[in-house]
Amino acid sequence: MGNGFSLCCNNCGKKMEVYLSVGMGFPRAYMQNIKMIKDGEFGPEGVDFFKKHPDGAITCERQLDRCTKCGQYQNVYSLDLCVPKEGFAQNEKHDAAWSTAMPFNEASYVAPYSIRQNYTIVDTIKQYCPDCNGLLERVTDMHNLPCPDCSKTLTISGEFRWD
Ligand SMILES: [Zn+2]
Ligand SMILES: [Zn+2]
Repeated sequence: MGNGFSLCCNNCGKKMEVYLSVGMGFPRAYMQNIKMIKDGEFGPEGVDFFKKHPDGAITCERQLDRCTKCGQYQNVYSLDLCVPKEGFAQNEKHDAAWSTAMPFNEASYVAPYSIRQNYTIVDTIKQYCPDCNGLLERVTDMHNLPCPDCSKTLTISGEFRWD
């Protein structure tokens, strides 16, 4: 289950919901994103990575990014590129913990806890703003974020859990 934050601007009334971590849709999101990376939709770096590392994996957790150019926020997937640690044989094509809960037996994905235990992050897929094409940068602290519309500080108006 993921967690999330509701943010609002007391100055201009802007409201934002931010989804973090992973929910029940994780296996599907993982498969969609890894396919897009391999298909080159995020540029040639990701294609090269999986040619070099056929046993590579990705993190696919929801995170908040901010555009370095226009300052708008995007609730994207993390898309860090990972390789198995030495000695870890990728014999599990999917994770038991997920597959019991999800009807994705054919799925090929690596769950977040397995990434943390068995993989090393070596690179990150660069993502760009759909509005202005500026480079997106990860936001890790939800406190004191500037409003994308008026630059006043956003207030955390709630926290929630999501599937
Ligand atoms: Zn505002
Ligand atoms: Zn932008």
